[in-house]
Amino acid sequence: MSLKGKKNSELRVAIIGGGFGGAAAAVALHSAGIKADLYEQAPVVGEVGAGIGMRPPTVKCFRDWGIYDAIVSKSTVSHYMQILKGNGEVKINEQWPLLTDNIDERWSRLIHRADFIETFMDHIPLKNVHLGYKCETVIEHDDYVEVHFENGEKVEVDLVVGADGIRSNIRKQFINDCEPVPAKAHAYRAVVDNLHTYDFANDNIFRVYVEGDVMVYLLPLEHRNQLSFDVTVKSEDISWRPEVTNEGILNLLKNFDPNIQKIAETLTIEDYTCRSLFDIEPLDNWSTNRITLLGDSAHAMLHHQGSGANMAIQDAHALAEALRDSDTIPEALQQFQSVRKPITDVYQKLSRQEPTQQSDTAFPEKETFEKAN
Ligand SMILES: Cc1cc2nc3c(=O)[nH]c(=O)nc-3n(C[C@H](O)[C@H](O)[C@H](O)COP(=O)(O)OP(=O)(O)OC[C@H]3O[C@@H](n4cnc5c(N)ncnc54)[C@H](O)[C@@H]3O)c2cc1C
Repeated sequence: MSLKGKKNSELRVAIIGGGFGGAAAAVALHSAGIKADLYEQAPVVGEVGAGIGMRPPTVKCFRDWGIYDAIVSKSTVSHYMQILKGNGEVKINEQWPLLTDNIDERWSRLIHRADFIETFMDHIPLKNVHLGYKCETVIEHDDYVEVHFENGEKVEVDLVVGADGIRSNIRKQFINDCEPVPAKAHAYRAVVDNLHTYDFANDNIFRVYVEGDVMVYLLPLEHRNQLSFDVTVKSEDISWRPEVTNEGILNLLKNFDPNIQKIAETLTIEDYTCRSLFDIEPLDNWSTNRITLLGDSAHAMLHHQGSGANMAIQDAHALAEALRDSDTIPEALQQFQSVRKPITDVYQKLSRQEPTQQSDTAFPEKETFEKAN
């Protein structure tokens, strides 16, 4: 396959950002024979401790990229999600929706974020990963793009993929200078050891407890004997890294199941990653002729539907396919956007819908995306 006379292997691609989106894009492009280079500002690639649920359309990408076995060995299948009252009364117990044509795929695979990134990094040639490369300026020409880094280095490429997250500089420079929208909520996330001592894990159910303004997300990571523990609470404080105390978190949980309180009592404030939550409004457009956004830079969303990382990974797959199928880079970027944007627009909207005790489904996405049996 070729892009206007250029073999895939001759294409020069710079991916800016080594989060889920950037790392997945590197794996996807390499598996399509495109030797993309990944540039990450941090000196090491890593992810904060927390779990996420990988949905079947995401796992399908891993099959295509040849990393399915590696991911499966580091994840646990969950068949049900529950919404509960703080005291543990189950309001909804629902099977994961069918998002592919395979009727056996009513599940989600639960994985630790760090295992995910590690697997991606294991499948990108070392020489194509550049850490400590903060992208400073991008200059687009008719037939190439210059990328300048803070460390003084410069590269010239055919395509730039801006996977630089919700505060994307590439979005600001080329697409839209919109600011992230505060959700006026905080998320405090930790990973708890010895999962089985709390009786939450044996069934691998993903549980969301809701009481007043507080939500507790419990995601079992059985293969690690750990539990991902996420307390989300409304707050007017929109500082990026809010100041929180352990006593403050324990106080939020005083009306919750005693086992949840017990978990929080084993943690110190240093065990938590504390963040304010933001998203962005859907953009009209993700790309210029030779620059595209991907992942949170294109469509950051809240975590209520657990979809942001899934969307970033599926973007990577669609981008690789579009480059494989198109004659020119602008045509590929238009195809990429036309496949992905209608889906991410819906998830961005749905992700603002938080679970409540009155919700009639754990999966508002079903109405739009569930396949008929
Ligand atoms: C509390 C919470 C829970 C979540 N739970 C889930 C879940 O269960 N399931 C799910 O699918 N999603 C979930 N998400 C969403 C998910 O975390 C994000 O959608 C995902 O991390 C986005 O990946 P990304 O690669 O696009 O961006 P990021 O992960 O933000 O990565 C961007 C990368 O770009 C780098 N970078 C930025 N600027 C530059 C620069 N100038 N030069 C070089 N590098 C740069 C950054 O250092 C970073 O490594 C959750 C999010 C939150 C906040």
